[in-house]
Amino acid sequence: MTPIDERELKQQFASDNYAGICPEARMAMDAANRGHATAYGDDPWTEKAADAFRKLFETDCEVYFVFNGTAANSLALASLCQSYHSVICCDQSHVETDECGAPEFFSNGSKLLVAPSVDGKLTPDAIHELAIKRNDIHYPKPRAVTVTQPTETGRVYTIEELRAISAICKRHGLSLHMDGARFANACAGLGCSPADMTWRSGVDVLCFGGTKNGMAVGEAVLFFDRGLAADFDYRCKQAGQLASKMRFLSAPWVGMLESGAWLKNAQHANDCARRFAALIEGVQGVKLAQPVEANSVFLQAEAELLERLHEMGWHFYTFIGGAARFMFAWDSDPERIDAFCRDLKECTA
Ligand SMILES: *Cc1c(COP(=O)(O)O)cnc(C)c1O
Repeated sequence: MTPIDERELKQQFASDNYAGICPEARMAMDAANRGHATAYGDDPWTEKAADAFRKLFETDCEVYFVFNGTAANSLALASLCQSYHSVICCDQSHVETDECGAPEFFSNGSKLLVAPSVDGKLTPDAIHELAIKRNDIHYPKPRAVTVTQPTETGRVYTIEELRAISAICKRHGLSLHMDGARFANACAGLGCSPADMTWRSGVDVLCFGGTKNGMAVGEAVLFFDRGLAADFDYRCKQAGQLASKMRFLSAPWVGMLESGAWLKNAQHANDCARRFAALIEGVQGVKLAQPVEANSVFLQAEAELLERLHEMGWHFYTFIGGAARFMFAWDSDPERIDAFCRDLKECTA
């Protein structure tokens, strides 16, 4: 094979999806690769992965595997709505800003009703306001609410906040969906069980992210209200999300869940974010834009300084949450964090 430019191999903090595949996921892929298996999900790995989710979540939920988060969110929301319904979300949510209209597309038109927010969190008041704003025939009828846990800016809803949201959802007859692209980081951050974070707090459907947690590809969609999952398999197939070699989407989950890597990876990433934030503290000209509650750090700094860091070869995003975003993954190397901080201090000295 042709070698790849060294520069491309150095760790960066632009996104947790820059990272590779963790050993637990890779070993499970290898194990699933030892022979033949039935296609389209009718295989032992897929059954084992679904059972591992039911065990982890302490409930008999319906489990599906899709390729990515956009599909997981869009298809899950589509299954909660008719085309004339609407979905309440917040203005910073991935479904609104980063899915190219896929939630509306896959639901045949269910409109997103967008609530303004300061920190990317939906509040019961904001939900209530949008739910009662109109009730005439000319407006799409609110039917679902989606929250991102942790939010796009790395904030974690507490259990109390989630319970207050699900109470208002129940009052207005709205289903509650959770975009958990970084669900594991939220569990690690709060130190609470997956069950407490979801169905015990009134969440009906969860999209559990595998990619950013250390897998090559794949998200799981968990329906705690099994009735909402009717025909979900057909929805996935029509959307081009039914993997024929499904075992390679599901086996990594067996590795992640049975070994506990899902939580270990998230804990490491969260620890790295905290380490980074601690090193930044007190550096002149930079300050934390958000409290660090999961695996991201958002920094406020002059554009000139950020530009210099980019020129020095550091990758980080500046288009999310109005600040410079640094993301940490299962394999983030403390030495690279230290190296970045040395460069930052050199630039600000
Ligand atoms: C990464 C991410 C997704 C999934 O994105 P895909 O690129 O479609 O896999 C969904 N929601 C949030 C909050 C994300 O950060």
